[in-house]
Amino acid sequence: MPLGEFDLIERFFSRAAGRPDVLLGVGDDAALLAVPAGCALVAATDTLVEGRHFLPDAPPDSVGHQALAVNLSDLAAMGAEPAWVLLSLSLPGADPVWLEPFAAGLYALAGRHGVALVGGDTVHGPLVVTVTALGFVEPELALRRDGARPGDLLYVSGWPGEAAAGLEQLRAGACPTDDPLVRRCRYAEPRVALGRALRGRASAAMDVSDGLLGDLAKLCASSGVGAVIDLERLPVSGELARRHPAGECERLVLKGGDDYELLFTLPQSAAAELESIASTELPLHCIGRIEADRGVRCRRDGLPVSVAIAGYDHFA
Ligand code: ADP
Ligand code: MG
Repeated sequence: MPLGEFDLIERFFSRAAGRPDVLLGVGDDAALLAVPAGCALVAATDTLVEGRHFLPDAPPDSVGHQALAVNLSDLAAMGAEPAWVLLSLSLPGADPVWLEPFAAGLYALAGRHGVALVGGDTVHGPLVVTVTALGFVEPELALRRDGARPGDLLYVSGWPGEAAAGLEQLRAGACPTDDPLVRRCRYAEPRVALGRALRGRASAAMDVSDGLLGDLAKLCASSGVGAVIDLERLPVSGELARRHPAGECERLVLKGGDDYELLFTLPQSAAAELESIASTELPLHCIGRIEADRGVRCRRDGLPVSVAIAGYDHFA
């Protein structure tokens, strides 16, 4: 039996907020949220459309995870503390078999980051999921794209390229759902703790959603600088290296999107402190340097190499 809007919200999206700063959550006309004194509200929103951002047969819990993960990643890239989210759902039908695991995937990730679902909207239409994430940060500590300076070192976290490899595999059909590369594109981990640790250290930061090269070009443009990537320093995970030839790995790392790793710059004086932040679960790789000359350049063993910048464009 199809559920009405009210029943659906009540059944799937009304868990207790569990945060004292939620003065009023789901159920009223709007949520009442208390932002800590001295902090700025940080707001981000991202929409997932079935067939474009996730495949029609994607496990519903992965859609719930991904819808929240991409937003938490944006807050992480600002160095913000994630606190609250709103969920706007357009659903072709109120199917509990889909909604139950969808909500479970979303709440599981929210729970791990102490984030509360405080409201949203539910309408009938094609399957589209929009999450708005809210968090806070002291404005002077926020990580922005426009602070990179010549001489800064350029870093990327984790293992960029794995999600794109997983996505290509899914598109090619037939692959086990527990494949680690497929999991990387379906269950990307937003780098919230890293974003927090980079506050007051990184000169600029952003999350890699459209591909390392293209996103670096955006960071450089915002900062009015350029960058050099040393190709031999690009991180290639063991999994990627086992499954793809070296040239293919390089393409995936440079141009693959959807990893939600953080790309950031550090003044050289802050580089030593970085050791205290890096961990075996989340290694941090220095892949190049910021220069005054605009544009993004690649080198291999010190020699210039031309690599065209084109990443994933979900609007194209
Ligand atoms: P209104 O008509 O006043 O906009 P709605 O009937 O759309 O209110 O929603 C009722 C309450 O349920 C509101 O508090 C709203 O934030 C919440 N809500 C609606 N859809 C969702 C959803 N998908 N997830 C979480 N909360 C929701
Ligand atoms: Mg409404």
